[in-house]
Amino acid sequence: MNTQDVIAMFDEYVIGNYGRLPRVITKGQGNRLWDLDGKEILDMFPGWAVSGIGHCHPKVVQAICAQAGELLHMDNTFYNVPQGRLAKLLSERAFGGKCFFCNSGAESVEAALKLARRHSAKEKYKFITAERGFHGRTFAAVTATAQPKYHDGFLPMLPGFVYVPYNDIDALHEAFSEEVAAVMIEPIQGEGGVRAASPEYMQTIRDLCDEHGAVMILDEVQTGLGRTGRWFGYQHYDVTPDIITMAKALGGGAAIGAMMARPEIAASLVPGTHASTFGGNPLACAAAIAVIEAIEEAHLLDNTIKMGDYARQKLETLKEKYPIIDHIRGQGLMIGIQLTTPGAEIVSRCLDKGLRINCTQETVLRFMPSMIVTPEELDQAVAILDEVLGQGEPL
Ligand SMILES: *Cc1c(COP(=O)(O)O)cnc(C)c1O
Repeated sequence: MNTQDVIAMFDEYVIGNYGRLPRVITKGQGNRLWDLDGKEILDMFPGWAVSGIGHCHPKVVQAICAQAGELLHMDNTFYNVPQGRLAKLLSERAFGGKCFFCNSGAESVEAALKLARRHSAKEKYKFITAERGFHGRTFAAVTATAQPKYHDGFLPMLPGFVYVPYNDIDALHEAFSEEVAAVMIEPIQGEGGVRAASPEYMQTIRDLCDEHGAVMILDEVQTGLGRTGRWFGYQHYDVTPDIITMAKALGGGAAIGAMMARPEIAASLVPGTHASTFGGNPLACAAAIAVIEAIEEAHLLDNTIKMGDYARQKLETLKEKYPIIDHIRGQGLMIGIQLTTPGAEIVSRCLDKGLRINCTQETVLRFMPSMIVTPEELDQAVAILDEVLGQGEPL
């Protein structure tokens, strides 16, 4: 089967809800991918931040194989060891919260919103979320996603959501009332263009939630599990949230999501209130345990900070050369390159030269290599980007 055959099969049998690039990927290892034609790709956007410690990390692969031979799936009628161990590891690395497990980012957001409503008094039902945020595609998650393009054709959205401009403290004060159950934002908006919350904004959310008895939710689906150089994005601030959501990098490539809540709040999810058939299955949990162990054994949080600084320095040299680059922002290995023009053509030219990056919000290149990235790989990536930008017009 060649690339054209596979694409033809998709055209006939797979729903066309993704704009796919015409490559069939057959293998991944570390920071590299290979396609069906044997072409190698340096991956600086691995799995949309899912492969946070690289593709097919040996420890994760080993853990999955071992667990698959023991107990592949077990429902939540019973207890299982990996789910308990993973919850403990996560709790110890965040704020001592308790975990609910699911299978994706959107589901972790759903769990957080349902818990916040269930925990709140009846008159508290509103959710405040931020413009340009991204929280997933299920109905509540996409309603929380305050970007009209994701609502188009699906109206009406769920009632009870209020949208405010991100990082706007006055707007937050104005939107608050005794009816608010929760505020949910990303510590750094990912899909929204790699924009970080200001420390004052975070503090204001905390203060207003405390004052009005509302729940502070941080969506850490993209920022969580080391992406920014700390376990969670909120740990760059002097603020502790009540609930965090996570998914993407958690399973090192295995599908898993989690919602962690302060124990007093978590207590509201009593038996019968929420559930997930696959949630917390031993296979996914074993993979996630291996991810956490791999990050600690190889000091990958430190590497993320070091490589993030290195990458930003290298990218700054490109900024000097090309006026099309307005500025570079981000934290750790979550890096956005703000362009003055659309970036889609740059992404596709980079891919032709064997480099994968991403473009979001039309004019922001996203550069999010794995935590095991090396200076040599970053050099190579920046050299390719340099070459592409050097080609100049038409871009
Ligand atoms: C990707 C993402 C989601 C959605 O995750 P899915 O696994 O695609 O449902 C939610 N929130 C944030 C911040 C994300 O980056």
